[in-house]
Amino acid sequence: MVRESRTAGKRAIEVVEKGYVRFTPENYKQVYLNWMYNIHDWCISRQLWWGHRIPAWRCLDCDTIIVARETPTKCTKCPRSRLEQDPDVLDTWFSSGLLPFTALGWPDATRDLEAFYPTSLLITDSTSCSSGWRA
Ligand SMILES: [Zn+2]
Repeated sequence: MVRESRTAGKRAIEVVEKGYVRFTPENYKQVYLNWMYNIHDWCISRQLWWGHRIPAWRCLDCDTIIVARETPTKCTKCPRSRLEQDPDVLDTWFSSGLLPFTALGWPDATRDLEAFYPTSLLITDSTSCSSGWRA
């Protein structure tokens, strides 16, 4: 997973540096690139009683961690099937990012998904983001 995210990060940098993605105002291009070049791991799990459960299970016999879309029925390393799902949930920001996909039909290219997430324009409030980062 780490290697995949770093590959995605390189592509996200490349599309900005080549001008496929533009920022308005222009100075936010450098803010974005500074952030992307200095990206750090961010814990996305929270100990709450509500939210999207972390899709990871631990084998109670050999401690193997299994990350899967569907609930696994047996361990991937040993022949046992005593699995326990991580009790944590995804943090609110991560979960809120999932909502459009779950509500609009992803992974299918639905009309709703295309209408609400055309991925050709992103408008965000930089003042709330920057105040959040400095808190
Ligand atoms: Zn096991």
